This record gives sequence, C-alpha cells and structure tokens, in this order.
Amino acid sequence: MKILDTLRAKRAAGQAVLATNFYNLETLLAVMRAAKAVGEPVILQTSPSTLQYTGLPMAVAMARAAAVQEGVTAYLHLDHCNDLALIRACLEAGYDSVMIDASEQQYEANVRATRVVVEMAHAMGVAVEAELGTVPKLGQAAATVDGLTLPDDARRFVGETGVDSLAVAIGTAHGFYKQEPKLDLARLEAIRAAVDVPLVLHGGSGVSPAQWQDAIRRGIAKINFATEIKDAFTRTVKASMSTSDEIDLRKTFPPAMAVVTELVAEKIRVCAMKSR
Ligand SMILES: [Zn+2]
Repeated sequence: MKILDTLRAKRAAGQAVLATNFYNLETLLAVMRAAKAVGEPVILQTSPSTLQYTGLPMAVAMARAAAVQEGVTAYLHLDHCNDLALIRACLEAGYDSVMIDASEQQYEANVRATRVVVEMAHAMGVAVEAELGTVPKLGQAAATVDGLTLPDDARRFVGETGVDSLAVAIGTAHGFYKQEPKLDLARLEAIRAAVDVPLVLHGGSGVSPAQWQDAIRRGIAKINFATEIKDAFTRTVKASMSTSDEIDLRKTFPPAMAVVTELVAEKIRVCAMKSR
C-alpha cells in the first residue's frame, strides 16, 4: 500500500501513523524494533540536516534495509525541506513522500512553491506534504494565535496546490515545551471539515497521549515525533558512559536503543489506539 493509502486507511479506522526521525543506525534500529513489536507501519523521516550528516544514498539504503530486516512496513519521508534540488534528489532516490515547507513565506508564495513540488513529485508517483500556518521552533518564537491555520485558507490551499497531506498549526511547536500546549481542537475540527486530505501534527513531543488521541479522533492521520527520541537516546548514553569505562560501541549504545524502542512503541500504541 502506498503511503497515502495507508494514511487514509488509518484515518478511516480512527488511527494515525507515527512519523519518527532517525539520525543514525542506532535510532533507526530502535524505531524499527518498536514498530515490529507493536505490529504497525511507521514513517521514517529524514530532515535535510540528517541527509547532510548521513548522505542521501546511505539514509535510503539504511531505511530500506532496516524495513526488510525487521519485517516492518516503513515509508521514507523527507521532513521540512524548501530546497528544490534536495527534494528532486530524494524523489529520484525513491522516497515515498516529501514535505515542501514554505510555510514561513506569505500565502501566495507558499502556494507557488508547493505547486512546483506537487507537479514534480506527482509525475513520479510520490506524495507531497505541505504546511500552512506556522508550527514554531521553541526557543525561537512563541506560538501565537496569528500563526495558527485558518480553515478557509486550508480549503483554498489544498485546492490550489493539489497537495496530498497538510501539516496544520493548532498549537504545537518543535522542541521542548515549558508547559504542555493545549491543542486547538475546535480549529482542527473546522480544518477537517474544510479539507479531505490527511492532516499532520508536527511537534508531537511533550504533548500528552490524551491530546494525541483527541487530535487523531478529529482527523490527524500522521504525528511527527522526534525531540523526545533525541533526548532519551542522548540522556541514556550520557548516563551509562559516565559510570563505565566500556569502549565497545556495540555495548555502549544498546541501553539507549532499548529506551528509544520502549518510548516509540508507546507512541505507536497511542497512534493505533492500542492498549499495552
Ligand atoms: Zn515538523
């Protein structure tokens, strides 16, 4: 099943697909083991900076090999990109979907940039996610109501761009929150009524399982989850290395991988509305 079919099927079933970023072999394997344990598909995301770190061919080969090895359905997705050359390279490398993020630009410029990518990607049978409204990066700017997605704009934007899925701004942000945000569920319901494409929630870290499920019930079909993975992995590595002289890397990382697997499995269960 293609990614868009899976997102639509999950939404119809009152579920969502977890989309996690991976950064190296260890975080990739940890995520895939979680997906395998819960028995659910997963979306593996690479940001442009991850691709800079691993190299594009390496990221693709790792993700595909991990899916085969672990027997998991895993879609490869390019997260937050506004570089056309990189988007094209990912399309050619066989990505299942790409995100064009021109949300910091004015509405018309966002439409233009998104249309270019939709045309390019659809010619190759690849799905496109775009963002309307602003999901801020914490530490840079606070979330403001001005940046939230307007339902009428969403309807117009989807119609004008032909985009396949839409990231909406309903109160989340990227990074760690000082206190848990309260999602604007009424806005989400209005957006869902206005557009038929699967909706995406960015900034899932630090938002409670109850709010995830509230969002999924109202049409969120993909939840992006990254910050807590980096945090859990790095904290565990730090803690174990500070108390050990172990130099064998095959022993250094597994405790952190196990923590990430448990964390991601829990989030996948929330997306699939499965109890433990
Ligand atoms: Zn994001």
